[in-house]
Amino acid sequence: MSFSSIVGQAEVKERLGHALAGSPGHAYIFTGPKGIGRTSLAREFAAALLCSQPGRDGACGSCPSCRYLAGGVHPDFRELELQEKEKVIPVDAVRQKIGTDLYHQPQLGPRKVYLIDADALNEQGQNALLKSLEEPPPYAIFLLTALSARHLLATIVSRAVVLMLSRLRADEVMAVMAAKDLHQHEAAAFFARVSGGVPGVALELAQSSWFHDLRQETIRFFMKLPESGRSNLLTDGFAFFEANRVHTGEILDVLGSLVRDLIVLSERSVGDLLINNDQRLALERLLPAGKQPATLRNHLTQAYRAVLAARRGLALNASFEGLACHLMLVLRKELTYA
Ligand SMILES: [Zn+2]
Repeated sequence: MSFSSIVGQAEVKERLGHALAGSPGHAYIFTGPKGIGRTSLAREFAAALLCSQPGRDGACGSCPSCRYLAGGVHPDFRELELQEKEKVIPVDAVRQKIGTDLYHQPQLGPRKVYLIDADALNEQGQNALLKSLEEPPPYAIFLLTALSARHLLATIVSRAVVLMLSRLRADEVMAVMAAKDLHQHEAAAFFARVSGGVPGVALELAQSSWFHDLRQETIRFFMKLPESGRSNLLTDGFAFFEANRVHTGEILDVLGSLVRDLIVLSERSVGDLLINNDQRLALERLLPAGKQPATLRNHLTQAYRAVLAARRGLALNASFEGLACHLMLVLRKELTYA
C-alpha cells in the first residue's frame, strides 16, 4: 500500500510526502465529510511514519513494520475508535489507551502513532486528549480524523496541522468503485454522480439493496408517466411517494438523472455517458421521433427545473403532498412534449 493507492487528494498527499521527507509534526487532523477517505489516508500516513524505508509515495509495504501493520498487530500503532453500541468514546478509554500508553517507549522503530476518530470524542474526551497533546514524548505522532476542525477544541487544533480532503470528481469516484469491484454495477455511473464526490457514499449505495429496489421502482414510475391518467397519477403515483417518504431526496436524484439522460439522448451527442446507461433503450422510447431537438430540449429543461424546484421545496419543508403532486403533473405534461 502507498499514497498512490488512494484516489485523488493530490494536494494532501503532496504535503504528507513532504512531511515524511523532512521532520513530521506531532499532530495532524484529517478533515472532510464522512466517506471521503480520511481514515484510509491517515492509515497510509501512519504506515509511512512507521515504515523503516518510506519513500515519497509512502510506506514500502514489505518491511517488518509494514507487515505487522497490514496484519493488524503493529506494537507501535494504536487506533481509538467507537466500539459497538457506543455513541462517544468514553473518557476512560482516552486516558488508558493514550494517556497511560503514551509513556511506553516504541518497540519496533523510532515512532508511535495514534489514530483517533475525533468526531467520536466529546468535550471531556477531547480535554483528556489535549493533556497528551500538550507535552507529547518526542516519538509520538497523533493522527485525528474529524468532519471539520471547527468541531474540535481550539487548543487541540492549534497544536496540529489541519489537512482538508477534497471531494472527488465523478471519474475518480468511479475509480474507487473499480478498486472495490463495484464499477460493473448497473448503476455505477449514477452512484458516482449522486455521491457528491464522496466515494464512501457511492460505495454504500452500490452495496445497499434498499436503494437498488427504490431506483427500480422510481424508474418504472418514470417510464409510465407520459401515459398515466391524471387521476391515476394523483392516487397511485402519490402512494409511491408517500410509501418512500423518508427517501424523497433519493427519488428526486433518480428522477433528475433520468431527465438529464433524456436531454443527452435528445441531443444525440455521441460518446456522452448516460448516468442510467442500463436504461438506454427504455429512455430512447420516451423520445418521440418526429419532434425537433429544440422542442424536446425545451420540454425536458422544464422537467429538469421541476425536479430541482422539488428538491428546493424539500429542503425548505414545503408541503409534501403539494410538492409531489405538482412534480408528477409537470413531469407528465413535459414528457408528452405537447
Ligand atoms: Zn515499510
